[in-house]
Amino acid sequence: MSAPDYPVRVRLRAGVVGEAKRVVHITMSLPGGGYVALCEVRLAGADAELISDLLGMPCMVCTRILALRSQVADPAELNGPRPEVEP
Ligand SMILES: [Zn+2]
Repeated sequence: MSAPDYPVRVRLRAGVVGEAKRVVHITMSLPGGGYVALCEVRLAGADAELISDLLGMPCMVCTRILALRSQVADPAELNGPRPEVEP
């Protein structure tokens, strides 16, 4: 899961904005540095903190867009085995 084009979970570093605005966006890295999120927020590389675990409050807009895209992209998954979810 380390392919460079894989969506990256990113939030703003502590101190850049208030804690309430540090939601975790689903982003793609940009060639010139920085990230653009599914919700179209742009994060400068210097201000961004990569999240490797399921930490932090997710951006609800990013989460919704990702869910809608995955439903369209993987219709066959509905008939296959469900992926195991860690408790
Ligand atoms: Zn977002």
